Amino acid sequence: MKELILVKYGEMALKGLNKKTFEDMLIKNIKRRLKPLGHFQLTSAQSTTYIRPLDEDTDLDEVADRVGKIFGIATYCRACVCEKDFDDICSKSYEYLDEVLSCAKTFKVNAKRSDKAFPMKSPEICMELGGKLLERFPHLTVDVKNPEVTITVEIRDENAFVHAENIKGAGGLPIGSSGKAMLLLSGGIDSPVAGYMMAKRGVHIAAIHYVSPPYTSDRAQLKVEQLCQKLTDYCGGIAFYCVPFTELQEAIKDHCPEEFFTIIMRRLMMEIAQRIAEKDNCLALITGESVGQVASQTMAAMVCTDAACRIPVFRPCVGMDKTEIIEIARKIDTFETSILPYEDCCTVFTPRHPKVRPQLADIEKAQNSFDFEPLIQKAVENTEMKTFNYSE
Ligand code: ATP
Ligand code: MG
Repeated sequence: MKELILVKYGEMALKGLNKKTFEDMLIKNIKRRLKPLGHFQLTSAQSTTYIRPLDEDTDLDEVADRVGKIFGIATYCRACVCEKDFDDICSKSYEYLDEVLSCAKTFKVNAKRSDKAFPMKSPEICMELGGKLLERFPHLTVDVKNPEVTITVEIRDENAFVHAENIKGAGGLPIGSSGKAMLLLSGGIDSPVAGYMMAKRGVHIAAIHYVSPPYTSDRAQLKVEQLCQKLTDYCGGIAFYCVPFTELQEAIKDHCPEEFFTIIMRRLMMEIAQRIAEKDNCLALITGESVGQVASQTMAAMVCTDAACRIPVFRPCVGMDKTEIIEIARKIDTFETSILPYEDCCTVFTPRHPKVRPQLADIEKAQNSFDFEPLIQKAVENTEMKTFNYSE
């Protein structure tokens, strides 16, 4: 029996004239994502894309799993391909729906007919197929209002398709449809989640990470690279920038008041991030900050950090509780990696009593007492880039 995957768009179906651009982008993303799994034919009609495997031995479970992580897809389902012939539809349905209908008590049939030349109209298809399924599975009853299972028959140009429930897709907008932004990616729980959330809005992500050897270890960097690789499942290809940050941190420690260490460090991180963002055509920065989570994430601290930024800073976790962030981290499979206990550069030289309500003027004065510019330039020059792609 031949099977394919039907993909329905979400929000992007509403985008009017832009719809075609969004659709093309989504199809390109699907193709790229499925490439390692074999050959497929993709066709689109009525806000639906049909993914037909062309090889004999395609692993459709794996295809469905990957489709479920592609942004821009509202729902998807596996469907059985039938001849446009009522008898063929019935006989294939018996076999294809056997498992789901054997477990259900109530069902209904829903029909969509875009090929008006098909001899039966939609209500007739529902009635007739419903009757046949009742004969075949006598334990079932029809419930049109609140059925356990809805069976859908679609009569399209070339074939008819039969499927059961739609599965909820990743939602959002296709990656790339909203431009690119630079994610400040630490080894923690929050920033991978922040990257995922912006990618869901169609933002193509690049990532930047700061290391301070010998205070931070190679393993800490490897952990972040592992997070980057995991994010590609949802975010697609990621350019990963690794910034040598030791000299800047030592300069802060030697020249600034201890209570301002963290804020000044964050401002310097932002400065470097936006210079690299500019070179890589990123329009904004993204962090995993959440109001009040730690001393450097009070609103007053964010005012001081933002004052060092010339481009917008997106903080999609800003209003979330840790438990909510963890829930997403588990879903996108970054949690277990994030909790590996390696030092991040943020925990090097942490002040004993950080300023919870810093004043911008005080921070600027402290920062201006030393010329960080040469060290900033050096860090930018010595930044190394690696690319992470969809896992094969
Ligand atoms: P996370 O769980 O994302 O590490 P956090 O709650 O530990 O966040 P902080 O350590 O204060 O918070 O960092 C706040 C944000 O700053 C992070 O979410 C991340 O975006 C950025 N950041 C922190 N450390 C680094 C780093 N070493 N490299 C890149 N970005 C960093
Ligand atoms: Mg952290």
